[in-house]
Amino acid sequence: MIKINEHYTEIGNNYLFAEVARRVREYKAAHPDKNVISLGIGDVTQPIVPAVIEAINKATAEMSKAETLRGYAPDFGYDFLVQAILKHDFLERGVQLKTSEIFVSDGAKSDTGNIGDILGKDNYIAITDPAYPVYVDTNKMAGREIELLPCTPENDFVPSFPKKTADVIYLCYPNNPTGTVLSKDQLKKWVDYALEHKSLILFDAAYEAFISQPNVPHSIYEIDGAKKCAIEFRSFSKTAGFTGMRCGYTVVPEELTTLTSKGEVISLNAMWKRRQSTKFNGTAYIVQRGAEAVYTPEGQKQIHEVIAYYKENARIIKEEIESLGITVYGGINAPYIWVKTPNNLTSWEFFDLVLNEAQIVGTPGSGFGTAGEGFFRFTAFGNRENTIEAVSRLKKLFSK
Ligand code: PLP
Repeated sequence: MIKINEHYTEIGNNYLFAEVARRVREYKAAHPDKNVISLGIGDVTQPIVPAVIEAINKATAEMSKAETLRGYAPDFGYDFLVQAILKHDFLERGVQLKTSEIFVSDGAKSDTGNIGDILGKDNYIAITDPAYPVYVDTNKMAGREIELLPCTPENDFVPSFPKKTADVIYLCYPNNPTGTVLSKDQLKKWVDYALEHKSLILFDAAYEAFISQPNVPHSIYEIDGAKKCAIEFRSFSKTAGFTGMRCGYTVVPEELTTLTSKGEVISLNAMWKRRQSTKFNGTAYIVQRGAEAVYTPEGQKQIHEVIAYYKENARIIKEEIESLGITVYGGINAPYIWVKTPNNLTSWEFFDLVLNEAQIVGTPGSGFGTAGEGFFRFTAFGNRENTIEAVSRLKKLFSK
């Protein structure tokens, strides 16, 4: 008889976006004449920039000739991309990493989920609340014990240390869903905690490109000692519109070691190498050439124009909602605007209100964790026209 992983029965269905879709579908069926605008799901709307498209086309042409055909890609990424990553994402910020510490992948969702493969079941896990659901769900799937660290206006969205010493800590900054960040000093406290307790920090920097303020670290390795205690996840999805192309990378420093149960020193870099080479067969050549083009001068100029476009959307959403006397967080260093629901509405009550009365879709904060109750997430990834229309409808609704 088949024996299943029973932990799957404990996590339930992926309720949040399915429930959002169900309510939107029902609303549209009942009101076919209404124009519903979504500022909900965190997918991009702006096209991939010309420098990247050009590189993809060139790589595609190479695939059409036997002499330039590329088959299986190297498990950890082509050297041309790894070198570009090392230089532009790290060296230019004063961080020196080695080629062997970068693992190119098909995105940060896979990596943040798969990293659990190299971690034992008995780790005590600390995860900020609210959070990107992958962290909690994958640890529940593995049957690990989790402590949630509430991030609310009361603590300025800065998590306190867990009650019980954590072996593994998930930090995501700039944060999805709250749009908030940690300063260098605040992140240093976590690095110091991890070094003191021999814990591992899993640092998700998927939204690094949206940072506007100077004292906000783009990489955890800007903090001294982080190479001994942190793995960092990066993604081209929001940086360069790669949600449908699939490319990201993970940094596992060679200095990051722990002990086996027999007391032998073991390298997490070596373990991740072993894991990836066994279960992952490389990111497509064409996609990696596209990612490489992100780092060219034209690529940089073009992606920063798109990022600036989304950031302007974020500014519009934030300022217009604030002008209604509603409290808003995030939106400065992140494409997410975290709204405190007015009149003590629950997240879902607010969802129904803005859908029914203004035909706007967002994401109920409670779907990201208990501490998200009473909050609502808007994203800045819409096009400008829809963003402006959406906020003007919200203004009409809330200034009644
Ligand atoms: N990490 C966070 C915090 C995210 O919000 C997302 C996507 O929404 C991801 C990772 C996934 O990124 P990717 O598209 O690279 O899988």
